[in-house]
Amino acid sequence: MSDNSRRDLLKVAAAMGAGAVAGCAAPLMADGQRTMFVVPGTSITVVGSNERFPVRRIYCVGRNYAAHSREMGSDPTREPPFFFQKPTDAIQNIAPGATVDHPYPQVTKNYHYEIELVAAINKRGRNIAAADALGYVFGYATGLDMTRRDLQREMSDQKKPWANGKSFDFSAPIGPIFPASQVGHLTKGAIWLKVNGQVKQSANLSYMMWNVAEQVAHLSQYYELFPGDIIYSGTPENVGPVVKGDIMEGHIDGLSDLRLRVV
Ligand code: MN
Repeated sequence: MSDNSRRDLLKVAAAMGAGAVAGCAAPLMADGQRTMFVVPGTSITVVGSNERFPVRRIYCVGRNYAAHSREMGSDPTREPPFFFQKPTDAIQNIAPGATVDHPYPQVTKNYHYEIELVAAINKRGRNIAAADALGYVFGYATGLDMTRRDLQREMSDQKKPWANGKSFDFSAPIGPIFPASQVGHLTKGAIWLKVNGQVKQSANLSYMMWNVAEQVAHLSQYYELFPGDIIYSGTPENVGPVVKGDIMEGHIDGLSDLRLRVV
């Protein structure tokens, strides 16, 4: 990507709420001080609402579909789910019907898509019972857990954290959130990803080893959940690479499709 187009993307990112904006005065706080600059928060569009969903934390479930677990070289026995995090400013909002430029990241030579259902939390809680867990889920979106696979593998082989492979700018493209009050709680339905019109990943939400309710229950044993937390719920099998120029299309039944051009 040229410096110009990278600058343009950064401008877009700033407008969408990622990164610090210079010259913007921070509000006065109760103690009479103010922060030295404003770091805008990240938020996601909500379908049928003027109110956006502010993002507090991004949690991601690893290896939550048996066939994907096998392709990653693991044994998909039903061990408790495990989680990692991405920074909130990794969010890239993808408007329905648009083809959004998605920058190919630094360093990697093996950049992978992972199509995932994302659950958005709007209630505070810990040690939540699975039977109550869906009461904490405000809605759902289609997301991509973009991954620098070569870096993830390298770190994994060295028994180091995955951060380089998973947590970087623009690594969390996401469509608008559909409130569960409108679309219900998603436990089954097609999930697929195409590259240049060819189906690469194709599965059903019902194939998850741990459903969203169980994910919320497990996660809330380790972290107190707060409104604004979102959970990327894992990807099905057949993850693979994209290169500059590729068009990725993502779909989950009941939600809006994503369309991105890798640039
Ligand atoms: Mn993933």
